[in-house]
Amino acid sequence: MTQAETLEPRATSADGLRGEIRAWLEENFPRELVDPAVREADADLSRKWRLAMGHKGWCFPQWPVEYGGADFSRDDIKVLNEELTRIGAYNPVGTREQVFGETMKQYGTEEQKRYHLTKMAQGEIRWCQGFSEPGAGSDLAGLSTKAEDAGDHYILNGQKIWTSGGMESDWCFCLVRTDTSQKHGGISFILVDMASPGFEVRRIKLIDGTSPFCETFLTDVKVPKENILGEVNGGWEVARYQLQVERKFVAMSKGSHGDLPGPGLVALAQEHVGLDDDGKLADADLRGRIAAALMEEQAFRLTSRRTAEPGISPQVRGAVASILKNAGSTVKQVRAELALEIMGQQAMGWSGDAFSEDDLGVARAFLSGKAMSIAAGSYEVQNNIISKRVLGLPDTVYKA
Ligand SMILES: Cc1cc2nc3c(=O)[nH]c(=O)nc-3n(C[C@H](O)[C@H](O)[C@H](O)COP(=O)(O)OP(=O)(O)OC[C@H]3O[C@@H](n4cnc5c(N)ncnc54)[C@H](O)[C@@H]3O)c2cc1C
Repeated sequence: MTQAETLEPRATSADGLRGEIRAWLEENFPRELVDPAVREADADLSRKWRLAMGHKGWCFPQWPVEYGGADFSRDDIKVLNEELTRIGAYNPVGTREQVFGETMKQYGTEEQKRYHLTKMAQGEIRWCQGFSEPGAGSDLAGLSTKAEDAGDHYILNGQKIWTSGGMESDWCFCLVRTDTSQKHGGISFILVDMASPGFEVRRIKLIDGTSPFCETFLTDVKVPKENILGEVNGGWEVARYQLQVERKFVAMSKGSHGDLPGPGLVALAQEHVGLDDDGKLADADLRGRIAAALMEEQAFRLTSRRTAEPGISPQVRGAVASILKNAGSTVKQVRAELALEIMGQQAMGWSGDAFSEDDLGVARAFLSGKAMSIAAGSYEVQNNIISKRVLGLPDTVYKA
């Protein structure tokens, strides 16, 4: 039976839909998951919630029912989000699936889309990204993981690194070399079931004890040829599309790297710095810098909104992704640095009763914000893209 057949007909009026969503959430959302710490710790319960939302079609509510979505309009999605927030619930789908879903929609065959989009939307298959290698980060096209043609399948050998969420994923989309005679033109984009023999995942333990990244080792991993996404040797185009979507997503999504908890900079400054006799922030220099940061944030928000308007050409879309990525990471990093300055030692906590959850969140936002200008291509590499593809500057400016 397809998902379309299992879904009950949905209520048509906004009130009817709200009622239906509210009743379902009341019955199905495990209340323990209101606490983010439980979400992290209780993998089984989190999975149960993901599958429940997925089978309802609400992980990707905007997608068509035949791909595992619920065919929701923007207004319907707003209602769903409001109801999730009301009860302390959340959409369990992660950034990786949201970004890769767009790439799959763009480059997948109808068969690939029906299988993979549906499994993704139903929460049954989670994905990670196998692009970076120990010898290929910024120069991604220098990658050396090899896919050898073995008739109806490929044999993969190589190593990937910085694979976010590798330990909790089921499938990995990888860039592999299918032709060693050319650089960019010898790369293919391939979908690998991580349960395949020879696919090994090892955690990378960070200094704070967490392991958001993995190393992945591929030793004689057999992958059917139909798992190529896009054209053989055409993987660079697919990867560029994936990275463009990811860059925009990283720049614009809330609750990601570098986002401050709590009520915002002004409230923070009022609390920690205090007001003068005129009711203004007591430190005039800080006041000016907070105002400048807030104006930048507003300009970034408005520009981001403009870039979502229809009719943007593919060339401009690529450029916009790099510009937004750099502008977005700068906005978040400046905000976190200001928060640190405002709070002083209260933002230097790592644990303990002397610090509130929000205090600790500021320290973590400052640190994780640094990752934002590296992930999905570093700040400098985005500047290279902007200078070459947008401004048309030459590779070499100065000659000895
Ligand atoms: C939070 C996070 C999540 C990530 N998740 C994933 C993932 O899921 N999957 C995955 O495949 N990868 C992932 N990565 C890896 C990421 O894509 C790479 O770290 C990034 O592309 C940079 O590559 P590198 O680390 O090898 O640095 P390098 O390429 O070694 O760069 C080192 C420094 O040199 C600079 N540099 C390099 N080349 C140039 C140049 N031509 N011009 C100017 N400056 C240059 C860079 O800007 C950087 O500052 C993640 C990284 C982070 C931080």
